[in-house]
Amino acid sequence: MGPMTETTGALVLFSGGQDSSVCLAWALDRFPRVETVGFDYGQRHGVELEARARVRARIAEDFPAWSNRLGPDHMLEMRGFGDIGETAMTGERAFEITAKGLPSTYVPGRNLVFLTYAAALADRRGLQALVGGMCETDFSGYPDCRRDSIDAMERALNLGMAQDFRVETPLMYLTKAQTWALAKGLGGEELVELIVEDSHTCYRGDRDERHAWGYGCGTCPACELRARGWEGWVAEDRPVLRPGAAPA
Ligand code: ZN
Repeated sequence: MGPMTETTGALVLFSGGQDSSVCLAWALDRFPRVETVGFDYGQRHGVELEARARVRARIAEDFPAWSNRLGPDHMLEMRGFGDIGETAMTGERAFEITAKGLPSTYVPGRNLVFLTYAAALADRRGLQALVGGMCETDFSGYPDCRRDSIDAMERALNLGMAQDFRVETPLMYLTKAQTWALAKGLGGEELVELIVEDSHTCYRGDRDERHAWGYGCGTCPACELRARGWEGWVAEDRPVLRPGAAPA
């Protein structure tokens, strides 16, 4: 059964970062109707939020096959949740590894809360797939990124909302290098260039310095991960990963 016959539409959890930009392209390739949702939980900077608008606009402009599938963007205000987090992402704590072995950028249960909000919105919008960039491979140790957590969450959402949602995580088992390969498989070098130029990953919100892999401070954990993935992909001669194909 083709994916397009399975559902009516998808809601992409979209932060404007590399991963969620690839997820947006993946959803546009697959679903006839795609909307995006972002969360304002008191990030240190608006850079991420600006990147969202830029990536959406360029995708609509440069990829005509996708532009009529791309529906509205939704922004949900969640500052109260950011207050609970109190971590390096939203407060002023340094980047470090905590006693639990988790990076201080981790906001406890963030993806669980995002998925709950996204599901409520998807219910209202008549969308059945929730698409997120959660990833177990190369990941930063966030327990709510694991597919086990997502499966449990999917079940809870479907029971609690009497729904038939599917939580799609196309990057779950990809390395960061393979995520670049998937971007190329979805939209060619043109999409790779768009993601390099317009998506934003750096925790410090730094867009002064342009590296081969995009803008960022180059030293925070998010920049290091993005740079390492890029270098791995380039070292392998920029391979292509087709959506739906298993990574080599
Ligand atoms: Zn950085």
